[in-house]
Amino acid sequence: MTGDGTRAVRAGLPAAEPYQPPLPGPVLAAHFHLPGDPADAPYGYGREGNPTWTALERAVAELESPGHEAHAVVFPSGMAAASAVLTGLLRPGDTTVLPSDGYQLLPRVRERLETTGVRVRTAPTGGDAQLDALSPRDALAAPGAGDVRLLWLETPSNPGLDVCDIRRLAEAAHARGALVAVDNSLATPLGQRPLDLGADLSVASGTKAFSGHGDVLLGYVACRDAQLAGEIRRWRTQTGAILGPMEAWLAHRGLATLHLRVDRQQTNALAVAAALAEAPEVTGLRYPGLPGDPAHAVAARQMRRFGGVVSFVLPDRDHAERFLAALRLVDDATSFGGVRSTAERRGRWGGDAVPEGFVRLSAGVEDPEDLAADVRQALGVARAEVSRGAPGAT
Ligand SMILES: *Cc1c(COP(=O)(O)O)cnc(C)c1O
Repeated sequence: MTGDGTRAVRAGLPAAEPYQPPLPGPVLAAHFHLPGDPADAPYGYGREGNPTWTALERAVAELESPGHEAHAVVFPSGMAAASAVLTGLLRPGDTTVLPSDGYQLLPRVRERLETTGVRVRTAPTGGDAQLDALSPRDALAAPGAGDVRLLWLETPSNPGLDVCDIRRLAEAAHARGALVAVDNSLATPLGQRPLDLGADLSVASGTKAFSGHGDVLLGYVACRDAQLAGEIRRWRTQTGAILGPMEAWLAHRGLATLHLRVDRQQTNALAVAAALAEAPEVTGLRYPGLPGDPAHAVAARQMRRFGGVVSFVLPDRDHAERFLAALRLVDDATSFGGVRSTAERRGRWGGDAVPEGFVRLSAGVEDPEDLAADVRQALGVARAEVSRGAPGAT
């Protein structure tokens, strides 16, 4: 089998054909010529399929599941992909377990699921709470009612960067007849392969490191079971949550550098983490690639790369805002995984259970020395301003 870089540069490309481009351009079509019976036609109406999606879907399947047949379904955002699994597969009376510290929209998804009669339990990522939540607690009251149908994991979690043991949880979930989905947005398929670790579905926001240039919203679901893939695809056709061909093409174009980007992002995240670790005012520093991180042992077992996101806590909101304002190479912006470094005070959204001074920093592909130096100088500026009581940063 080939290595990650070799696989990434050719993922999903058609066989070479004389006088055709290596990566065919985006196919813009609401409909295709369709003579006769549409049952066997690969493409008929644009909501059902498009060759530009197909190429990207092949690429996703190759990267998420090298060496094993897999299927992928692309969506116009990570949330559309997550909804296809959570709303598309769960029925009234089903129980699901969601992370209590996952992506900030999960509590809203929970409310929506509950209005349709799906029972939702939550448990934090890391520790044994997710394992405990799989036990059918209300089985005595109504036999079978407590069985979990779907365990949803997010690892590393956003923004807290906790990690759970996918293999162990998948074994426990499967023993109870539950499906397992892993949100693989942060790691990307080059950082972690949930399907190899026993998960049934790998779901991701391709908006982040997967597309990596901050110019596309995208999501996907990958799985090995053809029937499950068919259900997800039917959900997409019926809800109409379809990706634009231009976005699909842009993301596919960017995949050729995925290995270079995620390698540099990891190097840069480590350099930034090392700079932060020297600062006494920084607490709660988390990066799964740091040998001292509480999640490092599990992360090292199941991850191939640790991602480009570092999280940490400055003493308060004012201190964090001064730090962000003093950064020169790091944009104050949300999202993560792009080629340009970004950081934000996560508490400004109000959706995550994090301290006011909590900062999530996404390392881009700049030079590691420059990035670490920028973080050090911004820490210094913030420290000096706070100690002399300078007027607020914002
Ligand atoms: C961003 C993100 C999502 C949502 O993806 P969109 O592409 O913004 O819809 C879901 N899960 C995680 C972990 C994310 O970081």
